[in-house]
Amino acid sequence: MNILEIIDKKRLKKVLTYQEIEYVVSGYTTGIIPDYQMSALLMAITLNDMTDEEVIDLTDIMIRSGETIDLSLIKGTVVDKHSTGGIGDKTTLILAPLVAACGVKVAKMSGRGLGYTGGTIDKLESIPNFNVEMSFDDFIKQVNVINMALVSQMGNLVPADKKIYALRDITGTVASIPLIASSIMSKKIASGADYIVIDVKVGRGALVSNIEEARRLAKLMIKIGKEYNKKVICILTDMDRPLGRGIGNSIEVLEAINTLRGKGTSDINELVITLGSYMVSLGRGISISEAKKLIISKLKDGSALKKFLEFVKCQGGNIDALKVSNNVISIKSNKTGFVKNIDAYSLGNIVKELGGGREKKDDIIDYEVGILLSKQVGDYVLKDEELAKVYINKSDLDVERIVACFDITEVLGETPKLIKEIIK
Ligand code: URA
Repeated sequence: MNILEIIDKKRLKKVLTYQEIEYVVSGYTTGIIPDYQMSALLMAITLNDMTDEEVIDLTDIMIRSGETIDLSLIKGTVVDKHSTGGIGDKTTLILAPLVAACGVKVAKMSGRGLGYTGGTIDKLESIPNFNVEMSFDDFIKQVNVINMALVSQMGNLVPADKKIYALRDITGTVASIPLIASSIMSKKIASGADYIVIDVKVGRGALVSNIEEARRLAKLMIKIGKEYNKKVICILTDMDRPLGRGIGNSIEVLEAINTLRGKGTSDINELVITLGSYMVSLGRGISISEAKKLIISKLKDGSALKKFLEFVKCQGGNIDALKVSNNVISIKSNKTGFVKNIDAYSLGNIVKELGGGREKKDDIIDYEVGILLSKQVGDYVLKDEELAKVYINKSDLDVERIVACFDITEVLGETPKLIKEIIK
């Protein structure tokens, strides 16, 4: 087999065989195929697509590139949740303890942020001493005792994705539906959960910007799940605007705690209750409406917050030492009107540039920086009233660029729904 012939085949929109995909993935993972040839193939896939069968083959090969996790030592059904990545998406921090408080096991491996989107592991690491790595035995033990654990990817899980994802990130090949579907599903299947609920973000702040692409991604992931006897439910949600008020690591942890205290914004509450209802319904084998009642009660009676604090303590974190920068700049509106939209993508990039995210894989994150919105979509703002607070550890800030992220109009019109579709 020859890599040039395989690249050429994809350039000509032909279908690759299992053996050809395997040749490329294992060749790249072991270092025989260089970055420049893999980049060319990834770009050909991004431009010319893959059939569902090619994506299923790719996923299978990626899973087989490393170890898989056997969660059978966990007593009870394990439910996993995934988000395709958004701005201000602190959902896992709220959802995992909430679902665990409802008696469902969450044994979750999460990722770090890259580019303009954040990652759960970075958010957790903003809590001083929080340990995102543990042995497999300790991981299982913790889930059996407190119903949950959140760690970074363990063992040699899908090494092919680790290497390919890093390359995609610097070659403009992240936003490819076949590559996203195989990347997410290989990790989800290798990490062993029985049921998987996926939040597919749609909009300018997401990898997928239109609803048709989001539907295709959802259907593809459900189809891949079926191949492995995994029930997958996809919830398509709006990511034109940031989720909640906070963007930045420590700021998002604080917002998650506030939500668990019952003081969350309506968009986060709606998302968490919807995702949580599906997770609990699958995990406990009860109806969605029963699961929803349970979720709301655990949010209201403080059990979910208690579970979060228990989990942070179990993983060594000192929540009292969590810090945001004390250098705060207030961003004021230059006009009066309704906030019609907030450009999530640009704000995500601004936070990354403040030091809150990574340009390159090895960049060091400043956990203390970020943006806290004082106004959300639909709010009314007066000229000179505060739109946002910026927590900063640098001296230069382009205030105008932040103001420009807020689309303020005289007439509000209809605001897009947060939950767009549920595909099962
Ligand atoms: N998240 C992943 O894990 N992989 C992708 O390709 C995109 C989002």
